[in-house]
Amino acid sequence: MEHIENDSCFEGLAVNKGVEQPPSVNPYLNRMRKIKRRQYTAGEYIEGILKGDISILSQAVTLVESNLPDHQALAQEVIEKCLPYAGNSIRIGITGVPGSGKSTSIDVFGLHVLKKGGKLAVLAIDPSSERSKGSILGDKTRMEKLSIHPGAFIRPSPSAGSLGGVARKTRETIVLCEAAGFDTVFVETVGVGQSETAVHSMVDFFLLIQLAGTGDELQGIKRGIMEMADGIVINKADGDNIEKARLAQAQFKNALHLFPPTMSGWQPQVLTYSGYYELGIPEVWNMIDSYMEFVKKNGYFNHKRQEQAKYWMYETINEQLKEHFYRNNEIKEMLKIKESRILSDEQSSFTAARDVLDYYFKK
Ligand code: GDP
Repeated sequence: MEHIENDSCFEGLAVNKGVEQPPSVNPYLNRMRKIKRRQYTAGEYIEGILKGDISILSQAVTLVESNLPDHQALAQEVIEKCLPYAGNSIRIGITGVPGSGKSTSIDVFGLHVLKKGGKLAVLAIDPSSERSKGSILGDKTRMEKLSIHPGAFIRPSPSAGSLGGVARKTRETIVLCEAAGFDTVFVETVGVGQSETAVHSMVDFFLLIQLAGTGDELQGIKRGIMEMADGIVINKADGDNIEKARLAQAQFKNALHLFPPTMSGWQPQVLTYSGYYELGIPEVWNMIDSYMEFVKKNGYFNHKRQEQAKYWMYETINEQLKEHFYRNNEIKEMLKIKESRILSDEQSSFTAARDVLDYYFKK
């Protein structure tokens, strides 16, 4: 249709016919959404995982990490069916404070393991990631060589929930990775706080990365973490630092002698190495191999795995009980009221807790 403003009375003004505008919403969006959201059945997940299909494995891990009840139910079914195919890997926990060289070391340790063939999964537990919104541990960009290796699967820490919840998800991810044929699993964590205990409860060997040269090596380390370690490795033993690293090695060895004997019967070792210059890497691995041989022979390997399986049952019960309690809307309301009563000194913390619990258990 001619535009009205092209009438001769509007001199000097020509309005061209416009072009048809594209729709503001992509008509294919729904189709894309459908494709993206298509969920596999439990059978499809299991088949894919057992075939070693990385894309399906990743999606199954996402399912494990999801808090939606539907996803959780499906994830549990997949995990349960994968269990008979799991357990055949060597699980190694790696911890160290930020800057100790965990990512550099995991990169070279990983390549060393993969040289012999096989497949390596790198997982992480980082309970602080909930606050920092996004986990750094296990981040692919930190492990440059491993991230492009076809035999490696790197997955950052699950980021939502309590430490118990985050750790449980990582533990479940181990099962899926093992069923997908991964024969070595690294679980990385930061050497501060409680996360080491969680990692320790899901790995066969616990490696503590330390640094030398600060002069107060032993003071800075929590005794509990050292006691958990099956091996202590002092990183950055290169250049001017070699002597200091050796000195630290001697100090750690002495300190370990003061600890009670380990349950495995294994004497934890202390080694020096350099992740950056790739010095002493085979020695670290020989230590881990000797440990595995030792504990498989004396039966501790199986014993520890059984203990861990029991531990995770109780952990899961504890976690779910808590979640059930705190998610209950009536309890939420009641807690709010009790909080204000406590703050205005109308009630003590203990009687308030007893009232809420009584109400919950009678329900
Ligand atoms: P993370 O925070 O524990 O993961 O530590 P990174 O692997 O990111 O390393 C922290 C810093 O230490 C980086 O600047 C590395 O280049 C450096 N670094 C790591 N390993 C070594 C090593 O073996 N020798 C030296 N000299 N520096 C290293």
